[in-house]
Amino acid sequence: MVKTNCSDLEIDLNDLLMLFNNASDVNVEHIERQEQNKITNDFKVIYNGQEQSYSYFYTYEEHISPLHKKSLRKRMVKNQLYSILSKLLNQTLPWGSLTGIRPTKLARDLIDYGEMKDYLVAEILEREYFVSSKKAELVASIMRNQKCIIRNDNLIDLYINIPICPTRCIYCSFISSEIDRVKDKVESYIDAVIKEINAVKDIINKKAYVVRSIYIGGGTPSVLSASQLDRLLNEINFLASEFTVECGRADTITDEKLDILKNHGVTRISINPQTFCEATLKRIGRKQKNKEILSAYQKALVRDFVVNMDFIAGLPGEKLGIFKRTINTAIELYPNNITVHTLSLKKGSSLFEKKDLLDERDIEKMIDYAQETLSNNGYKPYYMYRQKRQLGGLENVGYFRDGDVCIFNIDSMEEINTIIGIGANAISKRVYNIEHHIDRLPNAKFIEDYIARIDEIIERKKEFFK
Ligand code: SF4
Repeated sequence: MVKTNCSDLEIDLNDLLMLFNNASDVNVEHIERQEQNKITNDFKVIYNGQEQSYSYFYTYEEHISPLHKKSLRKRMVKNQLYSILSKLLNQTLPWGSLTGIRPTKLARDLIDYGEMKDYLVAEILEREYFVSSKKAELVASIMRNQKCIIRNDNLIDLYINIPICPTRCIYCSFISSEIDRVKDKVESYIDAVIKEINAVKDIINKKAYVVRSIYIGGGTPSVLSASQLDRLLNEINFLASEFTVECGRADTITDEKLDILKNHGVTRISINPQTFCEATLKRIGRKQKNKEILSAYQKALVRDFVVNMDFIAGLPGEKLGIFKRTINTAIELYPNNITVHTLSLKKGSSLFEKKDLLDERDIEKMIDYAQETLSNNGYKPYYMYRQKRQLGGLENVGYFRDGDVCIFNIDSMEEINTIIGIGANAISKRVYNIEHHIDRLPNAKFIEDYIARIDEIIERKKEFFK
């Protein structure tokens, strides 16, 4: 672990160390010293019983802004630690010294603050953050593919959270309840969500906001019954060009539910196989069968929905060959969007206690195969993010074909648009593009608490969007 005399750097430095294979055998002591405009970082590193000391300094111009100074200080100390560990452990990382979850947001901020030209994105990431050329080019191409997105503080997105699933997947740490445990609370939950939607309508009218996308996520919203979905969707009558409902688990999708979604103006759904290997599906706690996934997809196609499919690289028990077959099958099905996640070992998931099921030797080859094969078949990357403890320190990437990007995914990952979050555990983000500022307002996390506190939640929301 890393001990430092700078509490504001402790998390970043430890996150960086943890990305290296032999991190648990390394102890680092870091001391920062400052004299006028010169900062010195001293490191004492103990590995395999051997102690080594390193010292680096840099200077900065006196007139730079406090924000610039803060980001320079963080970048320099992380780069210095990265160089030490990379040499000592003989390992380079795909994302170099970057530890945050959104490399594209970092690149966008650098462009917005005038510190980088957009055509230099890949070069700067490689040179100043030690990002591999493959990943730096990925960021640059995602930024090119996001150019269609307009930034305007009057545009908003709506997110409605249904944190309920049929069963719990072993890798999941989301706050989402199994339907059997909350069956008797679902109607009251929908009542509370409808109450919040109506309060949000008043906010939208008062502020003259324009809704550009609606996203009902979770959880698995399609776990609601047809009549519950109908009751909820009846209240959502905004003129948005994109309206997504996550129907992740194929075993929850029926003709009747899809007809209801279509009748209420839903344009896009997500059917998430994660893998086409049925043995793996069983292992990860999903009841679905491939024939259910294919039948759900067929039902979506005949109703002309834009379809996203999610997959995960590195699922327990899967080797490169199985993953390749999954990606090849996905391409044959040819959905509009494909999202490829790298498995993340989350605290709070049951997989966290069964780490020995994981094998990350093939993970980089899996992600490379997905990227190469998808791009050879007409898909382009359009959004990405990273999570803590992802196998191989890799990433999640969303791909699109034929112009069908999901605006909500870009807005939420890049934090370039105000999002009004509705429902338990939803977070509202008010984005001020010109001031480069974001305010956040979380709702109550759990369904029971959300139902009990709905009036207070609505009052806070009105105040927040005043
Ligand atoms: S479907 Fe998604 S939210 Fe539900 S348990 Fe599985 S991973 Fe978690």
